Amino acid sequence: MFLKINKFLNDVPKIAKGQKKFLSCKWLEHGIIFDHANIIRVCCEQSHEGKGRFILDDNFNGIFFDKQKILDIKRQLRNQVRNGIIPDFCKGCQFLESDYWDDEDYFSEVLLTHWTNCNTRCIYCPAVRDNNLSDENIYNIIPILEQMFDSKLINQNTHFSIAGGESTIYPEFDKLIYFLLEASVSNITVNSSGIRFAPSVAEAIAKNCAQICISLDSSSSFLYKKIKGSDTFNIVINNIKRYLQYEQISEKRVIIKFIILKGINDNNKEILDWFMLCKNLGVKRLAVDLDIAWYNEIQRNIPDYVKSLIIFVKEMSEINNVQLDLYDRADKIYKMIKNSEKNKYNT
Ligand code: SF4
Repeated sequence: MFLKINKFLNDVPKIAKGQKKFLSCKWLEHGIIFDHANIIRVCCEQSHEGKGRFILDDNFNGIFFDKQKILDIKRQLRNQVRNGIIPDFCKGCQFLESDYWDDEDYFSEVLLTHWTNCNTRCIYCPAVRDNNLSDENIYNIIPILEQMFDSKLINQNTHFSIAGGESTIYPEFDKLIYFLLEASVSNITVNSSGIRFAPSVAEAIAKNCAQICISLDSSSSFLYKKIKGSDTFNIVINNIKRYLQYEQISEKRVIIKFIILKGINDNNKEILDWFMLCKNLGVKRLAVDLDIAWYNEIQRNIPDYVKSLIIFVKEMSEINNVQLDLYDRADKIYKMIKNSEKNKYNT
């Protein structure tokens, strides 16, 4: 089944940049999300006024990818921004940026998150909060991706993110990773609880074709269990060590994440302990974010101690020479702090 992909390997069209700059974003231009509940979306960003998550198809059965229908809707949205009109769902979104966006029909960002089942029960997960973890309506995404490769909507330069639910327990997960590797895709991001060690991901890390992001959110078995609803802290630590063995010395492909949660891990000590635990394991890249529900409550008035936590972890990473990725909400808060410092300095 997979060999037919190879005919496209040396056939990636060169994309010409547009002639003038305008506000848009990579998801609006070239993004697609296969979400759960048989929905296809433009993006999953929702921490802003417009609330994002625009729906392209709300009844996708996982069999036939209606390329024309999806491209037509995307084209209408793209025409709007080319005429200086920001769609309502994008209003206030931090991902809007002024650039020379090209005008071609293809997908550079694909997020696969069309199942919700999981091997943890994280207290911050919207699917847990909504009692929405299930195996229902799962389809095999590989034939859909084949259709998309065939019609040159995706190619080996496309960035594939795999989320879920828990990505590695998706029934086709290992086949999917090997399929992407065979198609010479070299930018795969796997989001995982880290409870299941996936040999396919280890192989992709060794080949510098994938990164794995594991949410640890804590530094102890006790707190981990409280947050994740699963007594598997030591298993995850062991699997982090195993993945690190596949990472080439110059690479940073094992990312350990900390989601700051109100009243649970939102203090310097817990963040420091997590940071040092990761550092001592040999992790070279960390990620921090804020619980989305909490952020939505406090976004108009972020408490000073939350700002201090973000600055604290940022400084720790600089001092210790560890790469830190601030994800959506944490990044917004950090930029807010920097902007207000700049404004103070300028007045
Ligand atoms: S809501 Fe944000 S991320 Fe989504 S398409 Fe609009 S600008 Fe892009």
